[in-house]
Amino acid sequence: MTPEGRALLLEGAKELGLDLTAEQVDRFGQLLDLLNEGSAQLNLTALRDERDIVLKHFVDSLTCLRGGWLDGEQRVLDLGTGGGFPALPLAIVQPRLQIVPLDATRKKVEFVERTAQALGLENVHPLVGRAENLGRDPQQRERYDRVVTRAVAALPVLAELALPFLRVGGLLVAQKGPLTPEELEAGTRAAAEVGGQVRAAEPFTLPLAGDARTLVIIEKTASTPERYPRREGVPNRKPLF
Ligand code: SAM
Repeated sequence: MTPEGRALLLEGAKELGLDLTAEQVDRFGQLLDLLNEGSAQLNLTALRDERDIVLKHFVDSLTCLRGGWLDGEQRVLDLGTGGGFPALPLAIVQPRLQIVPLDATRKKVEFVERTAQALGLENVHPLVGRAENLGRDPQQRERYDRVVTRAVAALPVLAELALPFLRVGGLLVAQKGPLTPEELEAGTRAAAEVGGQVRAAEPFTLPLAGDARTLVIIEKTASTPERYPRREGVPNRKPLF
């Protein structure tokens, strides 16, 4: 990473209240290199420019730490991790989190696994599969304290896919762009159907870039009915609300 890239990362993280160590910044530098190499074959990101990757992948991923919902020791699922976002930045900055990056695309998960190993991140435990199927697997269902997710689906779809993985009392931390009142309303109703309640929907702007973002927090307040999630593809095709 160039000195400008490092400065941008440090400044963006600082705006989120994070003082990155030199070792953490070095790991982000390695991640940048591996992402650039991997993208050539795997189509992991549309972003090519260092500034964009630093702000719109690295700093953006870290914005889910706002509000302290991911503080402490937690078992965290990253639903639809793609090239490892937000899982890998979170694992670099919060070594106390045990993170399971999940994606339906095996090649992406293999990239995340190789990258975690190259970065020496022992708190990353990748998983291949569809959320609709794994959310019914007794080894995965109700086994997580937190689910994080970025750029995967509309809120009602996320509620149905994510809530089955959470223990009662666990939280879905969903990173969204600007959120319409309609999406929030539909997400609130879907959450109620699968055992959840919206605790917060906090708008903010991405440090240094200024793009509009919303962090939505849904608490699992009751066990998810067994009929959810519905079978593969249905949550997206026919959202609950
Ligand atoms: N979270 C990453 C990010 O912010 O860069 C990737 C976002 S990408 C637009 C969405 C990812 O979610 C894709 O890699 C896709 O394979 C995955 N995905 C979508 N629906 C899924 C499902 N039902 N189960 C597992 N993975 C899913």
